[in-house]
Amino acid sequence: MPANTRAARGDLAPERIAAILKGLEEAYPDAVCALTHRSPWELLVATILSAQCTDVRVNMVTPELFKRFPTPVAMAKATQPELEQIIRTTGFFRNKAKSIKGAAQTITDRFGGKVPQTLDELITVPGAARKTANVVLGVSFGKAEGVVVDTHVFRIARRLGLAKGETAQAVEQELMRILPQNKWIDFSHQIIHHGRKACIARKPKCHECNLEQLCHSKDKTWHS
Ligand code: SF4
Repeated sequence: MPANTRAARGDLAPERIAAILKGLEEAYPDAVCALTHRSPWELLVATILSAQCTDVRVNMVTPELFKRFPTPVAMAKATQPELEQIIRTTGFFRNKAKSIKGAAQTITDRFGGKVPQTLDELITVPGAARKTANVVLGVSFGKAEGVVVDTHVFRIARRLGLAKGETAQAVEQELMRILPQNKWIDFSHQIIHHGRKACIARKPKCHECNLEQLCHSKDKTWHS
């Protein structure tokens, strides 16, 4: 086996994974979801709006959105142009308006106005694929049915050699196999913070990274 493979390096050894989790905990002990919300419903909508958009930008439009349409019932009655006008700056606003109106309708009609608390139910809500469902389950209900794999988790799990899948779903399955389930929620929050602060897509700040000695990524910009 070539000496630089993940297996040969012991990338998936429990002690290495434990060291990564410890490093993340030390660097980002208070990492939480950055999307402003006051309820599972608001978090669901904010997460749908966060696709291909920054949380900061989403947080700028949601106060107005929830002021005008505070409940799923109210949002289901909103017109498509009304929603588009409010969320326009989050990008892909036509599709997103359709999704949040559809989500409002589904939550109202099928779930009695309450956001469901299982992955199987949540992924039937328009606009809510696995990532969105995992965010809502983890943040609002403290339930770890899967691991949130956004662009940061996808990139960094691969850089750290924790996963090699080519899709978010494949990476999620790998992470679910190797991480203790009671770490799934915190791991995603911490990695997302790490991706924003240090392990950025282009030119990661490896000299500032407390995982540097554990990282064998070809993208590294600095070696100790
Ligand atoms: S050493 Fe660099 S590439 Fe590796 S996790 Fe840290 S910031 Fe990312």
